[in-house]
Amino acid sequence: MTKVNKLYTIDDLIEKLKSYITDDKALDEIRRVYQFAEEKHRGQFRKTGEAYINHPLHVAVILTGIYADQATIEAALLHDVVEDCDVPLKQIEELFGKEVSRLVDGVTKLGRLNFSTENDYLIEYYKKIIVGMSEDVRVIIIKLADRLHNMRTLWALPEAKQHQKAKETLEILAPIAHHLGIHKIKSELEDLSLRYLKPQIFYDIAEKLNRTKVERDTTVYEMQKEVSNLLTEHEIPHEIKGRSKSIYSIYNKLEKGRKFSDIYDLLALRILVHTEQECYLALGIIHSKFRPIPKRFKDFIAMPKPNGYQSLHTTVFGLDGYLFEIQIRTYEMDEVAENGIASHWAYKEHKDASQVFKTSTDQKLQFFKSIIELSEDKMTSEEFVNSVREEVLNNNIYVFTPKGDVIELPKGATPIDFAYRVHTQVGEHMVGAIVNNSIVPLNYELQNNDIVKINTNKNSAGPSKEWLKMAKCTQTKNKIKAFFARSEREIYIERGKTSLEKELRKRKLSIAQFLSDAHIAKINQEFKMDDLEDLYLAIGNGKYAPSTIINVIYPKEEVQPIKTVSKEIKAEGDIIVEGIDKVKVNLANCCNPIPGDEIIGYITKGNGISVHRSICHNLALLENRTVSVHWNTTTNKKYLSAIVIYTNTLENKLVDLIQKISMFDVSIDKVNTINRIDQFVYEVDLFTQSVAKLDQLLAGLTKLSYVEKAERVIQ
Ligand code: MN
Repeated sequence: MTKVNKLYTIDDLIEKLKSYITDDKALDEIRRVYQFAEEKHRGQFRKTGEAYINHPLHVAVILTGIYADQATIEAALLHDVVEDCDVPLKQIEELFGKEVSRLVDGVTKLGRLNFSTENDYLIEYYKKIIVGMSEDVRVIIIKLADRLHNMRTLWALPEAKQHQKAKETLEILAPIAHHLGIHKIKSELEDLSLRYLKPQIFYDIAEKLNRTKVERDTTVYEMQKEVSNLLTEHEIPHEIKGRSKSIYSIYNKLEKGRKFSDIYDLLALRILVHTEQECYLALGIIHSKFRPIPKRFKDFIAMPKPNGYQSLHTTVFGLDGYLFEIQIRTYEMDEVAENGIASHWAYKEHKDASQVFKTSTDQKLQFFKSIIELSEDKMTSEEFVNSVREEVLNNNIYVFTPKGDVIELPKGATPIDFAYRVHTQVGEHMVGAIVNNSIVPLNYELQNNDIVKINTNKNSAGPSKEWLKMAKCTQTKNKIKAFFARSEREIYIERGKTSLEKELRKRKLSIAQFLSDAHIAKINQEFKMDDLEDLYLAIGNGKYAPSTIINVIYPKEEVQPIKTVSKEIKAEGDIIVEGIDKVKVNLANCCNPIPGDEIIGYITKGNGISVHRSICHNLALLENRTVSVHWNTTTNKKYLSAIVIYTNTLENKLVDLIQKISMFDVSIDKVNTINRIDQFVYEVDLFTQSVAKLDQLLAGLTKLSYVEKAERVIQ
């Protein structure tokens, strides 16, 4: 357990700093900062009875343990002067620079909150933390060190206060330290909290550990020697540390119903080597001598934890039948394991520390990435606290991208949450998900270690409102809602308007004249639309080509087959099935749907999805196994359709009709001539690209003097 109440001097601090700050000027500057703080705090005392300056000094010393940079150390020394000594922030900026004053400001703001874990305060607390963090994560690191020292001296406070602080530390600050990967601080915060929250259990565990200490120490020492010799024989340079599990982690395992004597990893070794390859080599050598326990091996090197932790874990039967949990990692991995985000201080040449943190935040610490995103979204306080709770307090699951990147999500998350977490664009263009090589529905509940692949399609219709029910994260839901608020409709309308006007200009027609009320009414009647917006929408989403619309008002003298509009994007299938990519799709031959038709997919038993027109009477018979489908508007394929042409003549017009039909962009499949008493009727099966094309043909045919009626038929 931690030694409480050791008194440090500024010389102790400087001595510790010398191990990693070699610039004398920097050290002198830190001394100057200390003198300023000491002077300001003079005459103030802590509840423990000691001079107040000992607190900021101690916080700075804690921070040297994670190699904190100069500005962080200075801010730690000054962290209470604004609040407790009424020093204006401006003065700090003038004396010690903007970077330090900003850090002090951040810590002061956090400190002003008399937070408890009761709901209202929790909200504000988290918010401030986030705000501080998104500006500079060093503020949080100072706060953690501050809390650690306060916890070490918690004995000086009244019992009720002890309990409240300990609870808050365990519920809020330790998880934050964990997510930042600062194991050292996290572990001590947990132990100290437990000591005040459940003193009996705490001392019980501590006592048991003590009682077995000599025996354990001897065994560990022997095992350590044995393993070290083994590695030396194989010429692997290494260092071995015995290590003790924290009391809190033992408590956690006891809570889960394990017996003290059964807790495997009471005896533990940590082996440090220089390269990743040596980690695996060492593992193999150890396994060849000591029998490993099946299923206790974990490879966090190949699959790092979301907070960046990497190591090999194995449990073996060691000397005298004792079980040993052995961790094998490189020195650098060890640094990250102990200090997490702060390890950048030790391992990076940091010209701009805050930038390094931002970069590492982006790459490694998804927790913070998502929290920062949260603070950018505009949420109500309630939504905000819910999502922070999801992130911080709940059990999270870890899943993987196909490349092996870890994504951390709350329990109950679905592929929709995964897709949006990867990128909003991925979410919005998602058409399906594959988990561990099988297609899953979008409401599939992701499990730990799932490998998730999201299929996207640029032409997908975007998220559906159903997704709101399937998404787990508040953040995902907000993104989906944002999509609908932004409204693809508006985008399409705008696009439709532009392309119609472009076409009119191309044909040298007046836009204003074309858009006269009478014309619009005629067009709307022709295509069964409600208003101009509908018209633009139909053009914008590709249902009708602008020329099709214009032809209604200004038919061309000779009806020319319309040239295929070239499209930039090519997709393979005819049909986009919501939520599923690359599935077998058949167009039902009862109703022969063609692009432009409203369609519905029916999930057949074992034969993929069969697509019907939504008006098809067969659908009513097909139970409830339907799925939303859309046309892929980028293919130029032609589809089978059937029309019937009624004439008003007893003359056979077949040759003329075929000639007329062939002027449109369709191919005739077969024609059936029916000779009725008073007329000829032709049933024509043909291939066409879309409803729009077919409508053009029908309109063209109707204009012929001998045609009474031309219409599409369902069967
Ligand atoms: Mn403080």
